[in-house]
Parts: sequence; C-alpha cells; structure tokens
Amino acid sequence: MTKKEKKAKMDKVVEILKKQYPEALCSLEYEGDGWKLLVMGRLSAQCTDERVNIVCRELFKAYPNAKALADAPLSDIEEIIKPCGLYKMKAKSIKEESRKLHYEYNGVVPDTIEELLAFEGVGRKIANLLLGDLYKKPAIVADTHCMRICGRLGMYKEGMKDPFKTEMIMKELIVPEEQSDFCHRMVLFGREFCTAKSPKCDTCPLKTLCKDEIKIQKLGIKRLDECLDLVWQVFSQFEVPVFPPEGGAEYKRIIEETREKKNISFYGAIANGKVVGVLGMRENNHIGYFYVDSRYHKRGIGKALFNRMKEDYDLKEFTVNAAPYGVPVYTRLGFVPTDSQKNVNGVIFTPMKYK
Ligand code: SF4
Repeated sequence: MTKKEKKAKMDKVVEILKKQYPEALCSLEYEGDGWKLLVMGRLSAQCTDERVNIVCRELFKAYPNAKALADAPLSDIEEIIKPCGLYKMKAKSIKEESRKLHYEYNGVVPDTIEELLAFEGVGRKIANLLLGDLYKKPAIVADTHCMRICGRLGMYKEGMKDPFKTEMIMKELIVPEEQSDFCHRMVLFGREFCTAKSPKCDTCPLKTLCKDEIKIQKLGIKRLDECLDLVWQVFSQFEVPVFPPEGGAEYKRIIEETREKKNISFYGAIANGKVVGVLGMRENNHIGYFYVDSRYHKRGIGKALFNRMKEDYDLKEFTVNAAPYGVPVYTRLGFVPTDSQKNVNGVIFTPMKYK
C-alpha cells in the first residue's frame, strides 16, 4: 500500500469510528483538571483505566490539588495507590510531578512535548494524551490498542510493538485535527471489537477495510491443490507417528488419494488472496485436515470454517478428527473432547478416533 492509499484508508476509518463512537471521551475521569490527568496517566501504566478511576477517587479526595499531593507523605500515597501496581515507583513519580507542577509551573500543565517529557514518569504516551486532551493539539497516543489495531489495518507490519515508530507513522496518516479523538476511539474500538485475543471480525465495522478480512470459500480445483500442499507441509513436519498412527506418511497417502478422487469437501479461509486456514470433510461427515496459519490463529478462523461447513451441509452432528493441533484447538473452538460420545451442541468430538 502506498502512503497515499494508507491515508485514504485511514480517512475512512476515522469516519466510520466517528459514527460508531460519536463521543470520543478519554476513559480517565480527570474532570478537566490537567494535574489530575497527569497523575492518572502515570498511574495507568500497566493498569486498567477503570481501576485508576476508582483509586483516584480516594486519592483526590485526600489530596485535592498538586500542592497537597506534593506535600503528602510518600508512604500514605503508596498505601492509596497500591491497587494500581508498581506503587512504589508510581507514588514517587506522582509526588514529584505534583511538586514540579505546583512550584515550577504554578499548577498549569505545560503545552509542549519537551516540557512534558521533563516530568518524572512522563513518557510520550502520556505527554501526547495531555497535549491532545488539554490543548487540542495533534497527538497520537500510541498505546496498546492503537499499536495493535493500526498494525492489523495494514499501516505497518502487524505485531510491531514500538510506540515511537507507531506514533511517527500514524502522525503522517491521520489528519491532525482528528488525531486525539481517533486515539480515544481506538481504545473503545479495541475493547469492543478488535480485542487482542479474539477480535470480532464478523461484526466489525471496519472489516471491509481491514487488510486481513478473511473470506471463507469452498475451494475450487486450483485452490484445492494449494490447500492440499499446505496441509501436507504441515503434516510432513511430523517425523514421529502422531496421528494417524502411521504419522505423516499416512497423511500423504490420504492427501494423494483425495487429489485423485476428490472425495473430500474442502473449505478454505482466504486472506490477502492466500489460503490461511483449511478444513476438510469426507463423505461420511468426518471432519479432519484442519490447519490454520499460526499468524491467523487468533482470528476465529477455525470457528468460521466449521460454521460455514455446518451450514452448507446442514450438519446436525459430525465427528472431528484430532489433527496435529489436537485437543487444545478443538477445545478452544468450543468442542468438548469426550470418550463417551456425548453430544455437545450437536457436535460429537472424538479425539484420536482413527482406525
Ligand atoms: S476485521 Fe477484525 S482484525 Fe480487522 S479491524 Fe476489525 S476486528 Fe480488528
């Protein structure tokens, strides 16, 4: 994607998220007080905003302004903020921040990134949060949500965890006046849809823009060959007999047979034009040959493949073979491994049943 294309994509993302979350409020309840946001920003490191809000109700009741917190005994601050974690370090930082703000800045939070970064415990994330929220300046808050989602949207290599790089890249791609609100919306969107573990891609309002939009397709001959090769690549890694008992060689035989007889219905998950997940079913409702590219494990592909197959064939129940990924995968997909052939949600899962 060229930079121009990325910008155009982000313009659309901004518009969709504006509709989805008209109010782009900061989730830290700082009541318009810059000092409170400074303190809360520091406390939010490796802690949820929710917990920070709860803790700060007590903290600000005991110390209602920067001077009061600056003069408070360290041990008392530590006691109150303990639930936020890293409390010794954080207590020291917020006491020192409050001292500096009160004595050097007369209680007014400065409006330049250089000055903000000179406060103890303030990194670029908090500095940008302050600039955007208090002064409406263009600012990208490269927190965990922003980094994860923008990577998934293809703005840079997915999985990159460099907040500085993220900030620099996104600064160029989001129109300045939208940056601060965009980051607040990223938090809301990241919690509701694009979660770290199981993003809700099916219902995601950005799915048509997401680089990893995944389509489930019944595979044609060309795709079938591609996917059989893929399956074989996976199975052939197993030198010791795994499953079936004959190991990889037996899979090879089955795959070759499949290629000839075409007696298996294959479904594939396609992302970026490539097969990234495979599910096959033999004539007798026997499901097996399951594979998901490790980069896509968290995208709900397995479930989507099963659902599509279940729908197309009106399957009330079927038997699942434990492929190399085995029990943990199927358990994650919601199937309960059972030796007793118990019917679970219309699915019989029989681990290692292969003769
Ligand atoms: S489609 Fe999925 S991965 Fe892409 S932005 Fe939406 S939830 Fe995130």
